[in-house]
Amino acid sequence: MSLPEIVVDLTKITKNVEVIRRIAEPYNVDVVGVTKGFLGDPKIAAAMLAGGIRMLADSRLENLARLKLAFPETPLMLLRLPGLSQVDDTVALTEVSLNSTWEVLQALSQAALKRHKTHRVILMVDMGDLREGVWPDELSQLVARILPLKGLILEGLGVNLACYGGVIPTTENLGQLVELSAAMEKEFGISLPVISGGNSATLALLQSGNVPSRINQLRIGEGILQGTEAVNRHRLPGAFSDAFILRAEILEIYNKPTMPIGSIGQNAFGEIPMFLDKGWRKRGIIALGRQDVPTDGLIIRDARLKIYGSSSDHLIVDVTEAPEVTVGSVVEFDLNYGGLLGAMTSPYVHKRYIY
Ligand SMILES: *Cc1c(COP(=O)(O)O)cnc(C)c1O
Repeated sequence: MSLPEIVVDLTKITKNVEVIRRIAEPYNVDVVGVTKGFLGDPKIAAAMLAGGIRMLADSRLENLARLKLAFPETPLMLLRLPGLSQVDDTVALTEVSLNSTWEVLQALSQAALKRHKTHRVILMVDMGDLREGVWPDELSQLVARILPLKGLILEGLGVNLACYGGVIPTTENLGQLVELSAAMEKEFGISLPVISGGNSATLALLQSGNVPSRINQLRIGEGILQGTEAVNRHRLPGAFSDAFILRAEILEIYNKPTMPIGSIGQNAFGEIPMFLDKGWRKRGIIALGRQDVPTDGLIIRDARLKIYGSSSDHLIVDVTEAPEVTVGSVVEFDLNYGGLLGAMTSPYVHKRYIY
């Protein structure tokens, strides 16, 4: 056994996909499986496909290359806007990409022509979250310019919310996206078959039946991996929030004071730490640090243990209330999405799969 390790329950991931599809399918919403939280690991992607996912999506071309190799028949989507330097790989690796910018679309068209391919494009519209997307005022102008581009198919419009600005998806902002689609169809005499209504943050609205009916695609990562919607982080009924569990071992346990001795300056990270004097406590050092996972991504499963803090390689916990915990004990953690991302992308965290 190599520690720290993250234990990935592939059956729970498949079950979570099934739960989300049962929410989405009555509304004709197709669920695209987002793999960026786990470096496009083909074993986890296969668990998504087993649950009925038909398209996989990632923000990184490196991950998409892994997926393409493992699943040559599965259509892939690039989530992050391609850079000008990436248009050739984008066309080579993916069927569809999210885009917002004329120069890049023109270059994508050239790349598609060179490869004798057609590449599908979803135009991202900024509905207020202030991350990617063309501002609604300028959409019509952009559509007019890209429709003549050869090698590209404008498949539809998309939005991303609750990412940078934390803007919550609503019937109103998604409804405006639907109206923009209808307006483009009318103005240009085209049909836009896909309206991509965001990420796991749209799941709560979908559960309540309030996603406008023309929205027919969601791009879901967190919901599948964590079994939660991403606005209030409520668990989806029947889904699992423990498909990923992090395990690490105790290196040292000593009774020590809770206040450091000496005058306090900056710690290893340039922060001036603060301490609460709780007298002498039994303190454990766990072999798990910021190189493995961000500390605020960790939730200790045993409620008797409390996290004091961490450095690059060590996590310090209060184990006073858990007398049986000793050197060599393995402590288990649930992870929030940030913790999951950190643990899955750290080379120090060993990955173990169970079925
Ligand atoms: C990451 C990402 C998603 C998936 O987000 P989750 O909250 O994990 O579901 C969807 N769309 C885009 C553009 C993304 O970057």
